[in-house]
Amino acid sequence: MSSSEQCIPAAPVNFIRNIVSEDLESGKHKSIVTRFPPEPNGYLHIGHAKSICLNFGVARDFGGRCHLRFDDTNPVKEDVEYTESIKESVRWLGFDWGDNLFYASDYFEQLYQWAEYLIQQGKAYVDDLTAEEIRAYRGTLTEPGKESPYRSRTPEENLNLFRRMRGGEFADGSKVLRAKIDMASPNINLRDPVMYRILHASHPHAGDKWCIYPMYDYAHGQSDAIEGITHSVCTLEFEAHKPLYEWFLDNLPVPARPRQYEFARLNLTYTVMSKRKLLQLVQEGDVEGWDDPRMPTLVGLRRRGYTPESIRTFCERIGVGRSDSWIDMGILEECVREDLNSRAPRVMAVLRPLKLVIDNYPQGSMEELEIAYHPQKPELGSRMVPFSGELWIEADDFQEVPEKGFKRLSPGAEVRLRGGYIVNCTSVDKDEAGNVKAVHCSYDPETRSGMPGAERKVKGVIHWVSAPHAISAPVRLYDRLLSVVSPGGDDWKKDLNPDSIQLLECAKLEPSLATAPPEATFQFERQGYFCVDSRDSAPGRPVFNRTVTLRDTWTKK
Ligand code: ATP
Ligand code: MG
Repeated sequence: MSSSEQCIPAAPVNFIRNIVSEDLESGKHKSIVTRFPPEPNGYLHIGHAKSICLNFGVARDFGGRCHLRFDDTNPVKEDVEYTESIKESVRWLGFDWGDNLFYASDYFEQLYQWAEYLIQQGKAYVDDLTAEEIRAYRGTLTEPGKESPYRSRTPEENLNLFRRMRGGEFADGSKVLRAKIDMASPNINLRDPVMYRILHASHPHAGDKWCIYPMYDYAHGQSDAIEGITHSVCTLEFEAHKPLYEWFLDNLPVPARPRQYEFARLNLTYTVMSKRKLLQLVQEGDVEGWDDPRMPTLVGLRRRGYTPESIRTFCERIGVGRSDSWIDMGILEECVREDLNSRAPRVMAVLRPLKLVIDNYPQGSMEELEIAYHPQKPELGSRMVPFSGELWIEADDFQEVPEKGFKRLSPGAEVRLRGGYIVNCTSVDKDEAGNVKAVHCSYDPETRSGMPGAERKVKGVIHWVSAPHAISAPVRLYDRLLSVVSPGGDDWKKDLNPDSIQLLECAKLEPSLATAPPEATFQFERQGYFCVDSRDSAPGRPVFNRTVTLRDTWTKK
């Protein structure tokens, strides 16, 4: 186990942990083995993080191990691009599979041999019905299914056909191998489920060795058994598949007896989570890619500025239960806010700049103000911030005719410039259309922050940057991807939030930010948490993404 894992505190108790703990106490298992089994057909999302934290977390806390297994049974939808990104995301989240990296496709030969075994036992047969016919014969929840006319083929006949399927003699879709269980079972999953289909496709991991591929339900439990998984934890939709999972284990000479346990999948408000929908957003150009900072993917959240700690905290906080529910996006946002609040350096950035001229500041001169990075964390140090007679301030920190209760700058009013002086607004410059172009102030040299006697209280404190020293940078304000609480239905895309990205082309930042490295995270004072975009920034030319606002602005909407 890596050192980064060891310092992560144990997660709170949940029903899976209780089961594991009982199984260890009773001696049912000496040590436990879990697995995280992604199909490499897309990027991991925050729902997968719940499963990763659960499986790796349980293994870590009970002294067991957790395998990373690619459930790569469908070559048509899978790609090494996905495999690589999945590995990187699991590592980024802070988990380590050590030597335990596996591929279901590495078990294809064993799975094939076991399929022949079932055929020989009279428990599997080759069926020539088409996919539609198989569906029609399957029956419904209220009606039993109908047996295929090919169901009575002899083991010899089936073996011969199955070997020829493997040999490539038959076209895609012309035959399948089915388990011979019970076409009248109340559980539709037991009505002779398909075990193998013909697919003349090359496989991203197994190459061109195979033209028949096992179905998920057949591959999964046997892969668990091969790896000696003790607790095979999956989401609730597999509950109805459990009898089939057990049927295969009961009827095959497998080396171990894993058990399946189901928990509720994560649904998060204001977003979609299925890989199919996320892929659709990517393919239809609604987002820039899988790592678009608005995506609920781990690569997207990372680019947005989420930390692994904040995601792990989120997964702990929402817990693990057995009833499906929607979790409020606000909880995830609160987790990153808390994490960044404790560690992100505070800096000044003006997002919508308005010029402020200090008329009595010595012309052409400047000074450097030392400002701490974090009010509660002196260990984060400080930086020198240039100050001059020409500053940028936030346009909405000035109101020519102040509304009731407005505590910032307006003609005749004074504010403190954060870490600097108190200024008093004396006049404004306007363009021909009457828009305010600049604000003129006078400053009081005796009021510099930190000076003896400079504690004079003023109502408002605003942030600023020195205009001749500022760097200009694009800043992207991201918001929720969908504007409804629980998006769904076929036309879920109609609820895409049109304001999920707002580009501020020319924000003005304090010069210390010029050299901030990709992924560095800051609190822009009074604005929110922002990080340096890892894709679009160049050395000395950062682009910033807003991770989250300082406060939850959605509950008020
Ligand atoms: P999706 O439905 O989003 O396409 P999936 O279930 O097809 O996801 P897999 O790659 O098969 O994706 O998932 C790997 C593991 O992650 C599985 O054990 C699955 O149960 C779990 N998982 C997937 N989505 C969620 C979720 N929303 N919440 C919790 N666990 C999830
Ligand atoms: Mg799946």
